[in-house]
This record gives sequence, C-alpha cells and structure tokens, in this order.
Amino acid sequence: MATHMHFDHVWSAKAVIDSTGADFLVHRLDWELRYELLSTAEELGFRPPDPPDRAEFVEDGQTIWRGLRVMHTPGHTPGSISLVGSGFVLTGDLLFNGSVGRTDLPTSNSKALVSSICRIYREIPYHYVVYPGHGPPTTVGAEATNNPFVGASSCGVTPQSTSAT
Ligand SMILES: [Zn+2]
Ligand SMILES: [Zn+2]
Repeated sequence: MATHMHFDHVWSAKAVIDSTGADFLVHRLDWELRYELLSTAEELGFRPPDPPDRAEFVEDGQTIWRGLRVMHTPGHTPGSISLVGSGFVLTGDLLFNGSVGRTDLPTSNSKALVSSICRIYREIPYHYVVYPGHGPPTTVGAEATNNPFVGASSCGVTPQSTSAT
C-alpha cells in the first residue's frame, strides 16, 4: 500500500512484494507517473528504486485491508491518497504537523493540495489522529485550527463544534 510513489515511501516495496507475494496497492495516477515520481530520488542524490512489477489500483471511497478507507487526496502528487481508519487518518505527504506537503515538484499542484486538505477538514472528525508520512502525529482539529499553511479558515469551512486540541 503506497500513499504515493515517491522513493522515500516505496523504497523497499519491490523487495517486500517479491519476498512475500503481497499486493501493491496504489492510485492509478501515481502508478502511471511512477518513473517520473521516483526520479525525485536522483535529484536528491539517491539511485531511484525499481518500482514493483505490478500494482492493484485503489479508488476514492474504496475500503481496503482492515477497514481502511481510501481518500484520493491529490496535490503533492496526482495520485496521492490518504487512508482513514477508526480514529485516525494516514496522510502521506499531504498534511503534516504544522506543515503541508511540497508542491514545488513538477508533478505537484498546490491548488489540488489545498482542496485535498480542506476535504480532510470537512469530512474527518476533528478528534481523529493524523499520522503523516514524516514527523510527529497531530489531530485533524489541531491542523484545522493552527496549520500556518492551510487552516480551516482558508477552506471556508465552518470549524467543527467538537473541536479537539
Ligand atoms: Zn512525497
Ligand atoms: Zn515523503
């Protein structure tokens, strides 16, 4: 399962899949751009990893392993997804504790990133814990209230009344 096809998130994917026979789940848009997306490794001085040989595609709204629900949250990459579980959401490189994902990469889109984050604020309860792809966890409510880049106020969404810290 990949939130997106950047090398730092799929570095060992092929090895794990080859040795376990597990399925590789990813959004189709990132799969189609896999070589471009993995080439960001080269710019940072790493040799890009080989992507898995095959993938299964996941769609917005689909429920996968252990009840995790897929949200298509493009912006950082076109096929970035978030995974919503019971009481938590995995946001990959979309939303971090006090920050947001990079949108200066060739396949990024800052408008899409903002709408994806706004969708998180609209659809996910504020007490849900956010586990980002980098850095410490936070909550949906904390980011909606305090995120300096994209807060709920920049989304035109009414803050949820059950706002947690
Ligand atoms: Zn990334
Ligand atoms: Zn990353």
